Amino acid sequence: MRRSAFLPLVLLASPAAAQPASPEQRMGATVNEVSQQRMVRDVQKLVSFGTRHTLSSQTDKRRGIGASVRWAEGELKRVGLQTLQTCDTVSGRRVPTPTRVCNAVGIQRGTERPNDVVIITGHIDSRVTDVMNATADAPGANDDASGVAAVLESARVLSKRKFPGTIVYAALSGEEQGLLGGKILADYAKAQGWNVVANLNNDIIGNSCGSDGVCNDRVVRVFSEGPRWQGREELAAAQRSLGGENDSPSRNISRFLDRLAERLPGIGLDVMQVWRNDRFGRGGDHTEFLNNGFPAVRFSVAVENYDQQHQDLRTEGGKVYGDTIDKMDFPYLTKVVKLNTAALMALASAPPPPEPKAEGAVSTDTTVKVPVVVPATDHRLYRRRTDASQWERVPQNVVQDLAVTVRETPNAATGRRDGRGSGATVGYVLKGVRVDDWVFGASSVSADGWESPVASAVPGGAFGPYVAPPSSAAK
Ligand SMILES: [Zn+2]
Repeated sequence: MRRSAFLPLVLLASPAAAQPASPEQRMGATVNEVSQQRMVRDVQKLVSFGTRHTLSSQTDKRRGIGASVRWAEGELKRVGLQTLQTCDTVSGRRVPTPTRVCNAVGIQRGTERPNDVVIITGHIDSRVTDVMNATADAPGANDDASGVAAVLESARVLSKRKFPGTIVYAALSGEEQGLLGGKILADYAKAQGWNVVANLNNDIIGNSCGSDGVCNDRVVRVFSEGPRWQGREELAAAQRSLGGENDSPSRNISRFLDRLAERLPGIGLDVMQVWRNDRFGRGGDHTEFLNNGFPAVRFSVAVENYDQQHQDLRTEGGKVYGDTIDKMDFPYLTKVVKLNTAALMALASAPPPPEPKAEGAVSTDTTVKVPVVVPATDHRLYRRRTDASQWERVPQNVVQDLAVTVRETPNAATGRRDGRGSGATVGYVLKGVRVDDWVFGASSVSADGWESPVASAVPGGAFGPYVAPPSSAAK
């Protein structure tokens, strides 16, 4: 083989082969498999069910919510996922008679930490002007066949690969009738005892122009709720004393997604973080995950078009109304789905975030203690001015290592010795850094370089297992 004509090629190839691919390289290669054509077909198929209203037919083979949910489940099964329908019989303000509401769910079980779960959702149900009209054609192309296409396409791309954590793909029903499917799946997740690292909810992600002609196809909005308060008086008191006004796990998922888009410049999409749970006066299924104490964010387009959602199909005064497929921007949808796919990959590959603690009142130094969540994981220290939007790494020159301490205490939240609350804790002294002036945080990093979202060292800022709110606050 010496001196063969192929030698230069071999020489070029071997250093690359010896180096394991970085997370950025692996995400970049993976998201390139996201197919615009397949998502066009998904949205066409979903529109073809005529209406997908939650109160429409469950038995008709071709029209209505039942046929569409069965089709979505079939698509998830076809790529080899374990599938199920999570259902409940519901009645309420927008459901006058008890009605079966079912979600199509696919599960990609993690190879190492199956209980750490990231969930992508979109809603399959659709509506027109009258939210109770279950018979008129309601194509729901952008709202929210676009989100269901994100669920199905990310499943097609990622199901070929293996990840340490679990990914759940779900097409939810009943959103327009009151976030019914979101509640069913969030309750299911809680009953299963899943540690939900994040819910990525995609609702209206496939248009780029508003009715006033304003267009933006380079930005996606990510909505995230602030601190988890949920009726816990002691948490409110601790936040008043120690800070955390801007540090919920959901908000750190938002920061994580913002950085992730910057790490993948090839996809051509920026994140605009919106620091509120949802659009003004409006809602989405991620709220039901928040209600169960799980971190959750909503992806939505930069510019909404109000003539093309929740509208009867009609032309009025020369203006065309309705949520039809011809109004969608599929290259834009593809970019949003690429970001989602990379995020699912990153969140299912990284170890869960740690639960760091900061100390240092009345001191010129700050001490940060980080429990090691999973063996063989490293972690990184971060800080953020209280009025800054993004984390920065703590400069190495201020960090002094403390001895590693081992504590055998059970997990404070669950009372179990589950590897979360016991084991090694690493401490650092940050010389000359005043605890008053910063928020501190830490991330977990796997041996092959996957980094978790940053968890904040403030009350309620860690991701860890959730403590149920008092029932009086659970509405
Ligand atoms: Zn919607």
